[in-house]
Amino acid sequence: MIEPRRDLRLFDGYHSPQVDVGVRLNTNESPLPPPEKWVEDVAGLVREVRWNRYPDRSASELRRSLAEFHGVDTGMVFVANGSNEVIQTILLTFGGPERKALVFEPTYQLHSHISRVTGTSVATARRDEEFLVGPDSVSEAIREHDPDLVFFCSPNNPTGRCEDPDAVERALLEARGLVIVDEAYAEFAPVTWIDRVGSSDKLVVVRTFSKTWSMAAARLGYAVCPPEVVRHLEEVVLPYHLDSFKQKAGVLALRHVEEMRARVARIVEERERLADAMTSSGAEVWPSEANFLLFRPRGIEARVVWEGLLRRGVLVRDCTGWPGLPDCLRVTVGLPEENDAFVRALRDVTRDA
Ligand SMILES: *Cc1c(COP(=O)(O)O)cnc(C)c1O
Repeated sequence: MIEPRRDLRLFDGYHSPQVDVGVRLNTNESPLPPPEKWVEDVAGLVREVRWNRYPDRSASELRRSLAEFHGVDTGMVFVANGSNEVIQTILLTFGGPERKALVFEPTYQLHSHISRVTGTSVATARRDEEFLVGPDSVSEAIREHDPDLVFFCSPNNPTGRCEDPDAVERALLEARGLVIVDEAYAEFAPVTWIDRVGSSDKLVVVRTFSKTWSMAAARLGYAVCPPEVVRHLEEVVLPYHLDSFKQKAGVLALRHVEEMRARVARIVEERERLADAMTSSGAEVWPSEANFLLFRPRGIEARVVWEGLLRRGVLVRDCTGWPGLPDCLRVTVGLPEENDAFVRALRDVTRDA
């Protein structure tokens, strides 16, 4: 059989094991379902969609609703099947051979992975020991690598904190190309870059329905960015890539903003309770502004803890293979009873060590 592209042989795909266990705290999904009213309305959509017709190619109603939600122009919104497809479309359009993306590790692995898949080369700079990157490090990295695209992640997955605002501003000032801020977890955090998009021709903010909107199964994400960027992305993305059903489901979700915020508030509260419980169980826990916590078990190897947790029916994310995260694991904030089960299992595993 014909081999895949030669350059693809060099790297692994992106895998988070989908193991069937009682407590799944490994992919930062919402533990709470979307509102019942939304589920009912979505059920009704099955009858409403004109299934024999192609969807609205420009997804106007969904983009209009998102624009209204964020107080921007409809022309500044691009929608796709999850924010990963948004990122892929950005890279297909502005990356590719002879182009370079800059990432600050450790960060979301798909930024570099999708870069490579699209033939974009990847330059890497390091975050400091707090997992932040300061403005001067940004300048230095831009000078050294002269990237076409700079990726930030705010809050940063898997480390938890928002980017230093001065660092992003520095990139907007000094980078030649696009500055992408992945805000998959922004609703959990006090700051967003969306308000800044209108005053920059380089800034692209990426959002998703997968986390705060409790809609990971739906695969829906978007970017808020300058209208010229949207136009170029539309030229590259496949025609009719976003199906009618999903477009309408997204519009319906935006009618439940209050419920979304209430879910976020519950998770944030639970995050602080969980962080305290983990710390008092002896783990080193990093501060987080998202719906997950990065931690390092003390006195026992992280990989052993990961396996011990799994044997006790709790799945967390093994970050030990990620660049710059030796012996770290990441746990998603779940329901109170799931978090309790996790803390019990963590105590068990570390005590047995
Ligand atoms: C979870 C996550 C996403 C979400 O991707 P979707 O394709 O929208 O599900 C994007 N970026 C980051 C940093 C994430 O953690």
